[in-house]
Amino acid sequence: MRLLVTGGAGYVGSVVAAQLVEAGHEVTVLDDLSTGHADAVPEGARFVQGSISEPGDTLAGVDAVLHFAAKSLVGESVADPGLYWSHNLGGTLALLEAMHERGVRRIVFSSTAATYGEPERSPILETDPTRPTNPYGASKLAVDTALTAYAGLRGLGAVSLRYFNVAGAYGRYRERHAIETHLIPNVLKVATGERESVSVFGTDYPTSDGTCVRDYIHVADLARAHLLALEAVTEGAHAIYNLGSGAGFSVQEVISVCREVTGHEIPAVLGPRRDGDPAELVASSAKIQRELGWKAERPALRDIVSDAWAALSGK
Ligand code: UDP
Repeated sequence: MRLLVTGGAGYVGSVVAAQLVEAGHEVTVLDDLSTGHADAVPEGARFVQGSISEPGDTLAGVDAVLHFAAKSLVGESVADPGLYWSHNLGGTLALLEAMHERGVRRIVFSSTAATYGEPERSPILETDPTRPTNPYGASKLAVDTALTAYAGLRGLGAVSLRYFNVAGAYGRYRERHAIETHLIPNVLKVATGERESVSVFGTDYPTSDGTCVRDYIHVADLARAHLLALEAVTEGAHAIYNLGSGAGFSVQEVISVCREVTGHEIPAVLGPRRDGDPAELVASSAKIQRELGWKAERPALRDIVSDAWAALSGK
């Protein structure tokens, strides 16, 4: 297929673009490089630096769009909500209009567990209430709502994948954020010597050891789900799938696995909660397993951390 990957210079987008090229697809990456890296665009993909608001000729002859380009920092979204609404919702609506004009009728969208907010139960199902607690999650949920409407009114075919905690690396493709907020890369930066210690945000949650529990999914497993979703997109329908490994690990458990993998003592400083963190977020991925035949191939936290460490340290 001829495909447009927006945000294909970012972490998840570059891994998906690489897998698409490997599968023989013709890939164009559209990325404004506001947070991505040009050298993360895989060999064999065409790269266009630009905005999703003006995709122009990048949509010519395209069979489907895989849409990753977005702002994705929760804290920044609280400080500057307009940025999130305009980029994530406004930008996507402009992209959808441009797709409509060009007759491109299929999209796979990078959605998020942040659309659920504070869950009532665990694991989370796709049918559970969506009550995002920050503008990042709200803007992503608004796109999901628009996709449902466009599927019904315009015959668009859409699949939204709601990611839980993505980690690990795929070959040379790894997480490289200028502002790193995620747990695993921050813990590993202590082992490389870039940081002196890691902060544990909150030790009084109602979990087994008092720290937050998350569901970590390997980026290669997550990326593979996009290729399945692409095959499954049906015009006139919008399907939503959660994507996690189905098991929860506490912050302390993650740090301890990172210590084992790196052989570094990794000092941890216990601190207060970070605003807006739910105690536990674990996905039910039963729907995507059932309907698309997806299964995590590297669900073990140790493998996820080992691959992230190998890419980061060159070991
Ligand atoms: N966390 C932490 N220290 C850090 C970064 C994150 O204790 O330096 C915690 C955070 O509060 C959350 C969990 O680790 O409970 C996962 O956070 P992350 O930012 O990786 O993903 P999120 O679940 O927020 O999407």
